[in-house]
Amino acid sequence: MPAAARTTAEAGYDGNAPFPRPIAAGRAGAVPVALTAAIVVAPLIALGAGVWLAWGSGITLTDLLLAAVFYVVTGLGVTVGFHRLLTHRSFTARPWLRVVLAVAGSMSFQGNLIDWVAVHRRHHAFTDRPGDPHSPYRFGTRLGGQLRGLAHAHLGWLFSSEPTSAARYAPDLLRNDPAMLRVSRAFPALCAASLLLPFAAGWAISGSLYGGLTAFIWAGLVRVALLQHVTWSVNSLCHMIGERPHTTRRHDRSTDLWPLALLSFGESWHNGHHSQPNCARHGRGGRQIDPSAALIRLFERLNWATNVHWQAPDVLGHRHAVAGKHTLRAGEPAHRTGRAHF
Ligand SMILES: [Zn+2]
Ligand SMILES: [Zn+2]
Repeated sequence: MPAAARTTAEAGYDGNAPFPRPIAAGRAGAVPVALTAAIVVAPLIALGAGVWLAWGSGITLTDLLLAAVFYVVTGLGVTVGFHRLLTHRSFTARPWLRVVLAVAGSMSFQGNLIDWVAVHRRHHAFTDRPGDPHSPYRFGTRLGGQLRGLAHAHLGWLFSSEPTSAARYAPDLLRNDPAMLRVSRAFPALCAASLLLPFAAGWAISGSLYGGLTAFIWAGLVRVALLQHVTWSVNSLCHMIGERPHTTRRHDRSTDLWPLALLSFGESWHNGHHSQPNCARHGRGGRQIDPSAALIRLFERLNWATNVHWQAPDVLGHRHAVAGKHTLRAGEPAHRTGRAHF
């Protein structure tokens, strides 16, 4: 969105109205839409095929174990690598660890890492107000708008034609980080590896092509689909449902949603994250389980991670938690405002 249009749109935003349509928005090209559709739909078709196969003993313990391993590795690649390390710089990693995390995250079929980082930084810069690439409040706060917004925040935004400028939001990676640029460009090859490796492992362990095929479906496609939807749920559900115990910037409606804590490796403590974006730990206190933070702690003990931003005292303060829905209303005292800090 052009700066002038963005400024005008933000100035008039009251927290409830649909976002003004950006002037720069047009129709997305057919090729990007087709590619995105294939990436999104193929794993879902595999899920159906996998369930159908499992009905007739088409799933083995090997498939489940491989699926778990690939889910954990690629999931932590996204949460620890893409998100906490590369987007928010919550810690400094040894160069080889940086590459390992970037490669693991790239195998999650969530786009190349530089675009991922740029989109997510833009989300923090414009959370739940015009300019946010995937806010569930895009179509307003009436029921119909909320449902449409939920679909947009979860999946629909992938098909929108409002590109996020990597040059603007991720210049550090684009211009000064050749290793990350190489990993980012290798995204298609890493997607292929993400499916071929489970196939090869399943074939090798079972000794049959059929074993390779079921591993391909479960530890490849189904695992990709599950992780995609868990990640997208942080964008959609974790801005609509749950508790908001922490103070955030104006219009920010991020929530803590405990049922997703384990599957999302701690990312669903999203209100805590939005209140202090560069903290390495998103959960607060010992009861909010955060496996990504535990891994960063392990890296720190091994001296693979340094300069870790651990939980600082809650400088933004607390306010009462309200379960089940967002609490920000027009006219409510403004929360902390100011420039976004990644
Ligand atoms: Zn968010
Ligand atoms: Zn973030």
